[in-house]
Amino acid sequence: MLLSLRNIKKDYTLSKTISVPALKGVNLQIAKGEFVAVIGPSGSGKSTLLNILGCLDNCSSGSYLFEDEEISKCKESYLSDFRRNKVGFIFQSFNLIPTLNVYENVELPLWHSSISHEEKKNRIHDLLEQLEILELKNRFPKQLSGGQQQRVAIARALVRKPLLVLADEPTASLDSKTSQIMLKLLQKEAKLHDTTFIIASHDTELLAKIENKIHLKDGNINQGGN
Ligand code: ADP
Ligand code: MG
Repeated sequence: MLLSLRNIKKDYTLSKTISVPALKGVNLQIAKGEFVAVIGPSGSGKSTLLNILGCLDNCSSGSYLFEDEEISKCKESYLSDFRRNKVGFIFQSFNLIPTLNVYENVELPLWHSSISHEEKKNRIHDLLEQLEILELKNRFPKQLSGGQQQRVAIARALVRKPLLVLADEPTASLDSKTSQIMLKLLQKEAKLHDTTFIIASHDTELLAKIENKIHLKDGNINQGGN
């Protein structure tokens, strides 16, 4: 298994007396190279689950094993290395840096890595070419369409060859043709590098093309059901 969650709970604290139970004891196992969709209505806990999987947020209780290591109780310094080295994120809102051009946005995750300048350049060029945005490499995010920005975000998520890619509603601002292209590309990448993808979505057209689905409802999971 790449990762395993046991009885993961997450409560958001709003005030001394009010807390929102967002995950109510999630159990989940995902193997290396799996391509999984997390589905469920708005408010069911999809983003919360992805944030915990990517260590962007802490769970309230439970166990999270990644490559057989318990990481739910790790220090922030360990977790920031974990995020940088093992996880690629694709967000609904792209989260590109407005003052960096396309090339520099994709280069960002490689800033502190030890790979050579030549190798960096090759990787970035390859990805931009595959995503058909190489000719846009000197443009800034605001000079791009939503679909183009999302492709930059995908290149940025993949450039370090992460073990795990988390995508939260990645097609929310894309048209259906661009969404299909994006999905094909992610599935190709998963096969090529044995990358694990976990995609939260309620895009029915997209979900029709993903076999492996995890259903979330009111903070609970029903794995394997359809
Ligand atoms: P989804 O992504 O499936 O729409 P979320 O994980 O965003 O669901 O939210 C799950 C539940 O947790 C919802 O009831 C939501 O209102 C609540 N929630 C999410 N984030 C916060 C937060 N930062 N503070 C308080 N409640 C939150
Ligand atoms: Mg969400």
